[in-house]
This record gives sequence, structure tokens and C-alpha cells, in this order.
Amino acid sequence: MHTEYTRRAYSFVCLDCGHGWEAEYDIHVTVDDETRIIATYHLDGRAVPSPLQSPRCPACESRKIRIMRPGRVTTAHRYVFAPGLAKTTAAYWLLMQVAMIVGFFTAWPVNGWLIRAGWKERM
Ligand SMILES: [Zn+2]
Repeated sequence: MHTEYTRRAYSFVCLDCGHGWEAEYDIHVTVDDETRIIATYHLDGRAVPSPLQSPRCPACESRKIRIMRPGRVTTAHRYVFAPGLAKTTAAYWLLMQVAMIVGFFTAWPVNGWLIRAGWKERM
């Protein structure tokens, strides 16, 4: 019987409430004399159930959890849910002008098609 130690991190997202979190587990993998593999998971020094078998959302207790590679939740929080540029910066207003121009040229052919099809009146 011998034990090896490894460390694995996972990202979790609750499919019911959208809560996302990450955790890094210390895993003790023991192979006993009959070559059975026993893995025990430890989080912050205490034994916990395997997060891969019965994950549960800490926010709503749901069991509908998607497990992803580590860093996905951190990346989403950093880039997708970031507050963005402050409205007092020149970069914000420059990007707003770019967005207006892109929006105009995106809407132009669609509006032309809607007028030709008779679904929209000329202004
Ligand atoms: Zn939840």
C-alpha cells in the first residue's frame, strides 16, 4: 500500500442560479495491497467528498453543476463581468463613437431590405 499526493483545481458553475466558484483540492491517492485505488479529497486541510461525484452549489444547494477546467470562472469574472470603462474617460467615448458607426453600417442594409420588402415605410 502506498499513497501519492496530487493537487487539482476545478471551476464550477451552477446551472440553476449562475453562481460560479473555484476550488483547489489536495488529493490523496492510495493503492492498497489488492490494487484498489482510493482517492480522498481535502479542501483547506479537511476531508471533503469528491467534487466530481456530488458537487453542490454553495449559493442555492442545487446539484446541477457544470465542472470546468480551472481558471474559467476567474477569467469570466475578469473579462465578461468586469465593470468596463468609466464614462469619464476619453476611451469610453471614443469606443462609443466607433460603436455608433458600426451600428449604422450594420443597420443600413437590413433597413433597405425591410423597405424593399414592404415591411417598413420610408422615413
Ligand atoms: Zn446555485
